[in-house]
Amino acid sequence: MKFERRDILLIVGLLLFMVGLLPFMAPIYAALVVIAMYFGIKIYVGRRKKSIEMDVGEGLCAECGSKIFNKRCPHCDSQNE
Ligand SMILES: [Zn+2]
Repeated sequence: MKFERRDILLIVGLLLFMVGLLPFMAPIYAALVVIAMYFGIKIYVGRRKKSIEMDVGEGLCAECGSKIFNKRCPHCDSQNE
């Protein structure tokens, strides 16, 4: 897992969120919630990056940003025709 400056911002944000949770739950649960969120966000961002890399091959629609399939946009082309 590559460590980027964005990760530090994410961790700082999650630590603040954990402090916000402390009045409502035990510190161990707040920590677990924040750790789960951290990995959830990392997995989500990783998947998005991968799917964007895959999309680059065919490109993205300039109108709606969805994946171009067979050189046409499944959203816009079906609406225009
Ligand atoms: Zn489109």
